[in-house]
Amino acid sequence: MDDNFADSASATAERSEALAFIDNARERLADVDEALARMDAGSYGVCADCGKPIPEARLEARPWAVRCVECAAARS
Ligand SMILES: [Zn+2]
Repeated sequence: MDDNFADSASATAERSEALAFIDNARERLADVDEALARMDAGSYGVCADCGKPIPEARLEARPWAVRCVECAAARS
């Protein structure tokens, strides 16, 4: 075990944290893209799965949401 082991271990942890962050951001970006496309199409604020209106409180918290809470939960 060399002196750099601890350093490289924490660098590896930081790296996988960064990768997870990038993964999340990528997903978020896809959601934002979808939300923008739906805004153009005039279907923003309507659940992509069940077609019910997405509650305003949810859109305020997650403006990129394209599904209602129930449908989003059913997908994950
Ligand atoms: Zn729904």
